Amino acid sequence: MAIDFRLTARQRELQLQSRKFARDVLSPALEAETLPTAEERFAATKPAYEALIAAGFLRKCIPLSAGGESAGLIDTAIVVEELYSVNASATLTLIGTVLGLLPVLIGGTEQQRNRLLPRFLEQSAAPLAGFCATEPGGSANAGSPPPGEGVRTTATLRGDRWIIDGRKSWVSSATGWDRKGADLLSILCRTDSDAPPERGISILVVERPASGLVFERAIDAVGHRAHLLPEFNLRAVSVSRDNVLGSVGGGLALTGACFTGAAALVGIFAVALMRAAFEFTLGFARTERRGGIHPIIEHQAVGYALADAKIAIETTRCLCWRACQAVDVQSPAAQELAIEAKIHGSETAVRVLTDLMRVVGIESYDHALPLGRLLQDALALPLFGGGNIGVRRRQLHAMLKHPDYDPLTASCEAEV
Ligand SMILES: Cc1cc2nc3c(=O)[nH]c(=O)nc-3n(C[C@H](O)[C@H](O)[C@H](O)COP(=O)(O)OP(=O)(O)OC[C@H]3O[C@@H](n4cnc5c(N)ncnc54)[C@H](O)[C@@H]3O)c2cc1C
Repeated sequence: MAIDFRLTARQRELQLQSRKFARDVLSPALEAETLPTAEERFAATKPAYEALIAAGFLRKCIPLSAGGESAGLIDTAIVVEELYSVNASATLTLIGTVLGLLPVLIGGTEQQRNRLLPRFLEQSAAPLAGFCATEPGGSANAGSPPPGEGVRTTATLRGDRWIIDGRKSWVSSATGWDRKGADLLSILCRTDSDAPPERGISILVVERPASGLVFERAIDAVGHRAHLLPEFNLRAVSVSRDNVLGSVGGGLALTGACFTGAAALVGIFAVALMRAAFEFTLGFARTERRGGIHPIIEHQAVGYALADAKIAIETTRCLCWRACQAVDVQSPAAQELAIEAKIHGSETAVRVLTDLMRVVGIESYDHALPLGRLLQDALALPLFGGGNIGVRRRQLHAMLKHPDYDPLTASCEAEV
């Protein structure tokens, strides 16, 4: 009985609790998306984010081994599907914080964990963390050897301090609620300009207040309208020599490890958006006649489109849960499955969202209905968490080219 997709009683409770919270707190918080500027919209989500923290949702995404309450990525996937299907912006602020903490959780020493994690385990205030990989000018080729620029942000050791200089962009919540910086930033930096990328790049942790972090602008993104995506400068930001997460020079490998689980979660984001769009469209099709005799669901073309959308949701969720489970048990298939979940889920969501808009018809093009917002959010999924073309398909391609690649590893892995 190893293959069993039923939730445990505890997971079902977690799902229902998350669903209720999303309905009661995150749904009204969507109002923030109507405000004129990106910073105003983000600021308006703060009460909802504080409520997420107070209700323990950040703790629920931090592993038990680090003092949190998550028994694994499947648990996180259950929570995230519920929250993201109602409010992608505020949920991404939560998950962006989890991503920012991952280098500490995966690569940090016990001492670093004890120092850095407590404020994120408390159920008070609005702590933010960010994983700073992306740079203006592109980051798909972070591992490029010269003459490619790769990671341009540098960290130079002077005495017992690292001095960080560079620019970052698109990093979730990085400049915090007040432009002065998130509580914790994990920053991908070049620490040895002479070494090859796999030995010359490291992740350094910067804690607030970070003197030298200069806000430039908040990007006016197509979707996730109430989520902060800043562009900012790092001007001689100074941190202790001990602030390297993982090994000096091991930054690209640690980044890869952090982004494996994140890929599976992007697939879950896709499920969440498709699910929200499907529920709305099903209700519309059952009740709207659009001037005809029968509700439009009676038209075969409409019914078939709804059937195809439902198949896409269920198949994507299965693949994502499979990927999350592989990550949880540290299966050799985890990376492949997580990337496949990310690529498949993200591209399926964009297709399904537009298909469902065609079912609803012209009214779907009015922001008074939710489908336009959901599509705007879905458009990010193939682009972020490692773009599907510049990063994710390349990773899969590299696996397939490897002489030791076994196509059946991901298909039928036996319990040991
Ligand atoms: C809502 C949101 C939240 C985000 N949060 C974060 C965050 O918290 N932290 C963070 O660091 N970033 C974040 N990002 C940025 C995001 O993760 C991107 O995935 C990342 O910047 C890489 O983008 P890219 O692949 O388009 O790279 P780019 O370097 O901009 O490449 C652009 C395009 O060029 C092509 N390309 C480039 N190189 C190659 C190649 N070698 N082979 C094939 N094609 C190539 C591809 O078509 C690629 O899409 C966020 C973005 C969004 C929208």
